[in-house]
Amino acid sequence: MLFPDLPAGLAEALTTRGYTALTPVQSAVVEPEAHGRDLVVSAQTGSGKTVAFGLAFADQVLDEEGRVRRAAGPLALVIAPTRELALQVARELDWLYKSAGARIATCVGGMNPQVERRALAGGVSIVVGTPGRLRDHLERGALDLSALSAVVLDEADEMLDMGFREELEEILEATPEGRRVLMFSATMPRPIEALARRYQRDALRIQTGGTERGHGDIAYQAVTVSPSEIENAVVNLLRFHEAETAILFCATRDNVRHLHATLQERGFGVVALSGEHSQQERNQALQALRDRRARVCVATDVAARGIDLPSLSLVVHVEIPRDAETLQHRSGRTGRAGKKGIAVIIVPYPRRKRIESMLRHAKINAEWTTAPDRDAIVAQDRVRLLEKLMQPVEVTDGDRELADKLLETRTPQEIAAMLVQAHRATMPEPEELLAQSIDSQRAAHQEKHREGFEDTVWFRMDIGRRQNAEARWIMPLICRRGHVTRNEIGAIRIAQTETFFQIPRAIAGKFAEAVAATAGSEENGGYVAIEQSNEPPRMAARENAKRGKPNGPGPQRTFKPKPAGGGGKPYAGGKPHGGGKFKHKNKGRD
Ligand code: ADP
Ligand code: MG
Repeated sequence: MLFPDLPAGLAEALTTRGYTALTPVQSAVVEPEAHGRDLVVSAQTGSGKTVAFGLAFADQVLDEEGRVRRAAGPLALVIAPTRELALQVARELDWLYKSAGARIATCVGGMNPQVERRALAGGVSIVVGTPGRLRDHLERGALDLSALSAVVLDEADEMLDMGFREELEEILEATPEGRRVLMFSATMPRPIEALARRYQRDALRIQTGGTERGHGDIAYQAVTVSPSEIENAVVNLLRFHEAETAILFCATRDNVRHLHATLQERGFGVVALSGEHSQQERNQALQALRDRRARVCVATDVAARGIDLPSLSLVVHVEIPRDAETLQHRSGRTGRAGKKGIAVIIVPYPRRKRIESMLRHAKINAEWTTAPDRDAIVAQDRVRLLEKLMQPVEVTDGDRELADKLLETRTPQEIAAMLVQAHRATMPEPEELLAQSIDSQRAAHQEKHREGFEDTVWFRMDIGRRQNAEARWIMPLICRRGHVTRNEIGAIRIAQTETFFQIPRAIAGKFAEAVAATAGSEENGGYVAIEQSNEPPRMAARENAKRGKPNGPGPQRTFKPKPAGGGGKPYAGGKPHGGGKFKHKNKGRD
């Protein structure tokens, strides 16, 4: 008997599920001192909080024999911030309480309310739902809370953050006196206090593991990239890690849509999850990940909380999370139930400081690195391929016959090469990362005489050395913003807070138009202002010294030795307008 202190039915369910011990948070909530009390529980992501609250309210739901109590209405109610999470929680409680005879109903926005009403009318013991839909059922008289003896707020802080305070209050006020209120989350910021004071009595605070030094099973990496190469860096990260399941977080629905399309075009098995999809589509996306028809999920923060995909080993923050809590919750989709995972934060160079401070705030130690390049991926593929092909195979007579036939016409080496090629063909190609190869290219390039740069126009951008401006990442940014190739960029002069560069006069007008059109597209570095300018002042002697000799290997790359002169007329193309994908802040929150 593995779990002697638990009701027999629940103990049996845990054992059948393959669990051999309770996690720390689960042990803590079933301790005698927690019995019957209101709880505020914070425990790190993936530590088994769902089963924890399932066990915590066992006394309210089951009688002495371990059978579900008979009552006029539901006995326990779980409220969760997103529809996916609510459905996942319901599934988890379902296996836990099945043998005890509990019926579980879900009340989830986007699902058919009539079906839900019917289930509620049919006598259920546990209800799981999202705040809005629960309130609807309550107001329409379909949800009877009079017999309720426990309410759980899963991801309580997120529900407040999402603006569900009113719904929560209305629901809580409809619950009977004396019911328990149990709040769970990995993070419990301030605003929770007020809710706790109002609706809880003498609550017991439980905090387990991992809160001091981040999460032991998640390795954090901060990967610096040129803002214009984010998507290519994502492609290479996916190819390098080849995670069984990976999740990529973007800030808005529009960006989810774009990255999803980009990856699909590259041949990844990818699904998208954001507020713009119907509930059915969202459920299907998660199901595809669960049964491995897809391996990559591109999502807004709608998937940051609670979602549990056991094979998920890679999280990529394609866009910076809005705060340190979101960083932890998004990352917490991996490293669950004792498994290891990697969380990668994509750091566009100009955002480095911001991310450093966010990591400090979250007490996370990240390894700073660059995106894997083609060579690294090819090397990694090799290792994986050899490993895979070295595995023992079962061979049938038919296979053997076919193999003999092949050997009659081809050499073993040819056959092996075909096998390798066939394997490789199933994997998308790595991308060329311009930023990382540009140093050598540009150095070589500058030694040649540059045609077309006799008559040029200077442009200015509002980032400089203080923002870590370096030719290797601002060149790709200029290319992307202005729709030019790197061969069409002349001298670059990087100053303290600004950078000047030359564009041939013949294409300067077209360049300015493209720059205006791409302003606002964050992914393309649209937050960097670019405008035509006069010839910049000569850099101080110290700067010139820094360039090194023209042929030297050093930092001369950032400067063309003899910039051709000639300031142009001030750029009259108007202010950059927001036409990009990133203009709707927070649009993708649901
Ligand atoms: P949290 O809500 O803390 O983020 P979940 O409740 O979603 O975590 O659980 C994370 C994973 O751990 C799930 O896959 C769950 O099945 C598994 N799990 C929960 N409890 C145990 C346990 N006692 N032993 C092994 N695995 C467990
Ligand atoms: Mg959870």
